[in-house]
Amino acid sequence: MSRNTIRLLIILGIISITGIIAVQAYWVRRAFDLKEQQFRQTVMVALRNVANGISKSFKVSQIENPVSQLSSDYYVVNLRVPLDADILEHLLTEEFKKQNLHTDFEYGIYDCDTDKIVYGALINANYESDTTQVRALPKTDKFLNYFGVRFPSKTSYLASRLDIWLISSLITLVVTAFFGYSMFVILKQKRLSEVQRDFVNNMTHEFQTPISTIRVATDVLAQPAILNQPERLKKYVQIIRQENNRLKNQVESVLHTARLERGKLELDIQLQELHSLINEVTEGIKAELEDGLQIVLNATKTSIYADRTHLMNVVRNLIDNAVKYSPKPPHVKIETHNEGDSIVMTVSDKGIGIAQDQIGKIFDKFYRVPTGNIHNVKGFGLGLSYVMQIVKGHKWTIDVQSEIGNGSRFIIKIKQ
Ligand code: ADP
Repeated sequence: MSRNTIRLLIILGIISITGIIAVQAYWVRRAFDLKEQQFRQTVMVALRNVANGISKSFKVSQIENPVSQLSSDYYVVNLRVPLDADILEHLLTEEFKKQNLHTDFEYGIYDCDTDKIVYGALINANYESDTTQVRALPKTDKFLNYFGVRFPSKTSYLASRLDIWLISSLITLVVTAFFGYSMFVILKQKRLSEVQRDFVNNMTHEFQTPISTIRVATDVLAQPAILNQPERLKKYVQIIRQENNRLKNQVESVLHTARLERGKLELDIQLQELHSLINEVTEGIKAELEDGLQIVLNATKTSIYADRTHLMNVVRNLIDNAVKYSPKPPHVKIETHNEGDSIVMTVSDKGIGIAQDQIGKIFDKFYRVPTGNIHNVKGFGLGLSYVMQIVKGHKWTIDVQSEIGNGSRFIIKIKQ
């Protein structure tokens, strides 16, 4: 899938999901408003019936609009006669039952002598009365004689009656999460396929060089005249051997990673002496780099438990990188020192450095920092991912400090 198709797909997907969420939110809001309106009407009817009932029993004339809503959950009801709390509670409960209003409510009756609302009780959804808490209910100047009713759980009551809407919202949420996850997987796959494409290009390029060198060398060796030139013969055999070794190393590094991928990292942990191991690894490189390699071994406690071969590969990889990513002649430094119960081993260079936003990625498999021309410096992007696997396998840590143009430091903390 091309980059533009994926981008278009993501944009269209985001637009559709945003649209679905907006429509859903709109309809849930509408449904809630409708339920609220219904609730208000039911409460108005119920309270009017209660007021009319009271007027009838006290044989006084009915008031035309006895109910007034003071806030979204609070109503006051005008009365012509003073009323007893028990009677009011009974009337309210009976009427609310009739109207199927199963939600908490609290009531209070206005007492003109004290100019206060005397709190009655809190009645729960099962019509059980609770008088343990006394809460203040707002007064009104509209009426001289009245009682107030508040529905403290109105919002949750209305929300609980939106069940079908809640289910559909949940489904929308699941769809959105699924969409988000799919986008994540697509982007991850895309990145992986790009990285793998780079790897295949890179590998073809890397393999081509030794293969064509060997072909040229064998062509030379195929000439009968070569038998009379033993020096040349030796030189070409040497070239073939060198290139063969290079091919072998390259194939091995790919196989190594494949094996680690299958979870087959088996470490042969033995007691090692770190400094002698470093000296062994750097023996060949020392001659090659001469002054370009500085070895400063300051650690005094140097025994560690490690897999010798893998640790040697790690050191070799870090030095190889330090050389590869430095202008010629390179300046590579290997240092060790003790820190608490650990040995810190640092491989640093004065090379091209790594940008801050790339440091987190260089340990990913196949990842190579884009340098414009990726084939300038040879590599598969596998070295540091291998280093990381080995470091993790030993339960050590690795840290990188680097700055573009100012070189890099790879710091491994080895537990003793
Ligand atoms: P490779 O060297 O084969 O590309 P690595 O996994 O060893 O793969 O390294 C990944 C990338 O990290 C390299 O491509 C390079 O861009 C960057 N890198 C590694 N070591 C250094 C270093 N010492 N200096 C600068 N860049 C480095």
